[in-house]
Amino acid sequence: ALAKPLLDVNGIEVIYNHVILVLKGVSLTVPEGGIVALLGGNGAGKTTTLKAVSNLLKSERGEVTKGSIHFRGERVDEMSPSDLVKRGVIQVMEGRRCFGHLTVEENLLTGAYTRKVSRSEIQLDLEKVYGFFPRLKQRRTSMAGFTSGGEQQMTAIGRALMGKPSMILLDEPSMGLAPQIVEEIFEIVKNLNATERVSFLLAEQNTMVALRFADFGYILENGRVVMEGTADHLAENEDVKEFYLGIS
Ligand code: ATP
Repeated sequence: ALAKPLLDVNGIEVIYNHVILVLKGVSLTVPEGGIVALLGGNGAGKTTTLKAVSNLLKSERGEVTKGSIHFRGERVDEMSPSDLVKRGVIQVMEGRRCFGHLTVEENLLTGAYTRKVSRSEIQLDLEKVYGFFPRLKQRRTSMAGFTSGGEQQMTAIGRALMGKPSMILLDEPSMGLAPQIVEEIFEIVKNLNATERVSFLLAEQNTMVALRFADFGYILENGRVVMEGTADHLAENEDVKEFYLGIS
């Protein structure tokens, strides 16, 4: 039986600067507890889709002009980014934007800012994040800007976790990282999904890795979903092999 959709994106169109049509009717769903990959090349519209979901397009002069977005059955496409965060939809942006001049731990703490909870509870959550990312515990007092790319990606995901997400929108987690670190990060994603029931919508150009860790995938080309299916199914597909995995 299909799990009920946590996130339901239905036919969205996105226009930048009032004229540039970038998403041309994108539909996708993320089931409760799912890991869904949004695949496709540079400029296909992956980042735009994630930003549409968390309503971060305004500052880019972009807007959703058609379609709808529901989260847990509630319409959210008019909702402010902070109201989405309160509902547990948390974005980890491309380029793992940490505050470089803050320590790793201070970065993590900024992720809890919207929650009105006690210090002791935040301390417990911090320990939990360190449980998932032991490297971050070692680096807790280092300036984030001086940690490695992999550690910065972990800090960015850890900060999202401090906001108690039910869904993380993860943009290009593998970008610029060595294969071994990419593997480590995806293992943690899988672990968070299995133990904390965090659902993921992740944009990736690294099709091979994404399909190994995701349950389901959508392939975007030029602002349209051109293919979708279970991760196993996509990994076996001849066109996917040829165009995205470089094997045929
Ligand atoms: P990438 O991996 O490079 O981020 P992507 O699949 O995430 O690629 P988007 O970043 O969503 O793609 O970009 C989709 C298209 O929208 C591209 O053609 C891009 O040039 C265009 N675009 C993105 N942001 C803006 C903007 N603020 N104003 C105008 N056009 C934009």
